[in-house]
Formats: sequence, structure tokens, C-alpha cells
Amino acid sequence: MGKILEKQKKKTTNSDETREEKYYCSVCGCEIDEDEYESFDCMCWECWDDQITEESEDMFLDVM
Ligand SMILES: [Zn+2]
Repeated sequence: MGKILEKQKKKTTNSDETREEKYYCSVCGCEIDEDEYESFDCMCWECWDDQITEESEDMFLDVM
């Protein structure tokens, strides 16, 4: 008698140690990682791609 088999559940505090800042796309608001945030001018690659496409279209119009 008196067997204590309760497992002590440790609260996962790993997320506190790895301070991951979250970044969000400034256009659609979806979560992006830091690389995307810096490379794509605060946008996710989809919105960035949209903008680049629009810009390049404008550039093409200027050239032609
Ligand atoms: Zn986006």
C-alpha cells in the first residue's frame, strides 16, 4: 500500500527560454519567420511576390 505512481507533469517552459519573436506579414497578417520578414520587406513571400510582380509590370510599361 501507499504506492505513489503519479507522474509529475512538468510544465513545458521551453518556449520561454527560446525567445522567438513573432513576425507578421504587413499585408495579409499571416505569421512569418524572421528571415521572411527581413528578406521580403515585412511581408510574407506571397504578398512580396505580388508586389514584385506589380512593380515589374510597371517597370515593363516604363521600358516599353
Ligand atoms: Zn502576406
